[in-house]
Amino acid sequence: MKTTIDSIMKKVKDKNPGEMEFHQAVHEVMCSVERALDDYPNLIYHKIADRMIEPERSIIFRVPWIDDQGEIQVNRGFRVEMNSALGPYKGGLRFHPSVNLSIIKFLAFEQVFKNALTGLNLGGGKGGSDFDPKGKSDLEIMKFCQSFMTELYRHIGENTDVPAGDIGVGAREIGYLFGQYKRIRNEFTGVLTGKGADWGGSFLRPEATGYGLVYFAANMLETKRDTLENKTCLVSGSGNVAQFTAEKLLEFGAKVISFSDSSGCIIDHDGFTIEKLAYVKELKNVFRGRIAEYKDRYPHAEYYRVNPKDTSNPLWNQEADCAFPCATQNEINEKDACHLLENGVLLVAEGANMPTSERGVEMFIENNILFAPGKAANAGGVAVSGLEMSQNGYRMRWPKKRVDEELHKIMKRIHTICRDYAKTYSSADNYVDGANIAGFLKTANAMTDQGYV
Ligand code: NDP
Repeated sequence: MKTTIDSIMKKVKDKNPGEMEFHQAVHEVMCSVERALDDYPNLIYHKIADRMIEPERSIIFRVPWIDDQGEIQVNRGFRVEMNSALGPYKGGLRFHPSVNLSIIKFLAFEQVFKNALTGLNLGGGKGGSDFDPKGKSDLEIMKFCQSFMTELYRHIGENTDVPAGDIGVGAREIGYLFGQYKRIRNEFTGVLTGKGADWGGSFLRPEATGYGLVYFAANMLETKRDTLENKTCLVSGSGNVAQFTAEKLLEFGAKVISFSDSSGCIIDHDGFTIEKLAYVKELKNVFRGRIAEYKDRYPHAEYYRVNPKDTSNPLWNQEADCAFPCATQNEINEKDACHLLENGVLLVAEGANMPTSERGVEMFIENNILFAPGKAANAGGVAVSGLEMSQNGYRMRWPKKRVDEELHKIMKRIHTICRDYAKTYSSADNYVDGANIAGFLKTANAMTDQGYV
């Protein structure tokens, strides 16, 4: 079977040179899936893996826009429509200067398996731009979003491809993107999720990824007859996922002691309270400030600025029971993983996509801690996006309680599926193998049913 992985990885590397993040994501999935392939020889015959690593469509486009000084700026836009075996392509848009084809492809690839795990009819895709929203005026953001949608609208639609938010794309950007789509197509349809609550958005969509992550972590601890109560937790990032992860952790009686952004991290050993969290939300969502400013209001907190020479992040070198990386890919490297383990971490649940390096993941698994990969643990966001699509189809809005119950059920089901597949092909606590194998097989079976497409 090793020959299958070697041959797939050779193809991935030959066809996508230099796309390190994409290679990493494919390698991780293939290493898990090899454990199951003996039971499914038809998947090799049907060249399922070869097909899965090739996007159905990759769109790269120019996004010209005019800044507040009247100067023309040009960014690059992407949409990778990876796999539609299970439904319309679904996955967020990321606006961040680091965005390139490799990052969008790895995110789209991960999204395929994540969406399969939700049990909803959703294919996988992802998009974005190397546009940096930081420091831009509202008007500049609007002009950029309008230009971005002026090309993207040709490729998306409520039954074709339904984007949502991701890093740098929140309620404000979804609003501008939706407005432009409506204007060009003259139709009010559920073509984007994460819409405003008064115009087609679902209750709890903003909260869903963070809340779902905490529900998943609680399910994991339950298998050890343990709970989140009084657990000291590290949360990285300070955006959408981080904020609502912290909010739900506080509700579950945990103590959250950290947040971060791309400039540095803040540690508050007294723990964040609801009031302190409200300040973080205001700082990031209203003033669009830096997490360092937390210290202006709460001077006892420690702040560590990102030092490019540092090979580890001080955030992950704190004593804690649980860690929730909610910022970006590969934010936990081998050294960070080592620090977390030395400091006695017992659970790591990924809110971000692929935030742990491959070696970091191996170390968590070798040390038998509970480790939840993003494609399982952060699936609550896309799951509620799926529920938003259903509500839009019926022009209805479900009450908050109903959405939360559905989210609970979906996260519990994903947890059970991961464990079931892990028990069959690996070991019960190996959520990485469980998630990869379950997501792969579901997508593979649909691809087989649909012929050589
Ligand atoms: P936001 O833009 O709301 O927040 C992102 C946070 O991560 C910010 O604090 C940002 O800091 C920080 N960050 C971004 N890039 C870096 C970097 N290179 N180094 C350090 N910090 C960084 O995004 P979300 O909260 O929506 O997304 C966070 C993660 O969760 C991403 O990996 C995303 O793919 C994943 N995710 C999001 C879902 C959603 O529903 N939104 C669903 C599933 C996964 P700064 O302010 O400095 O940019």
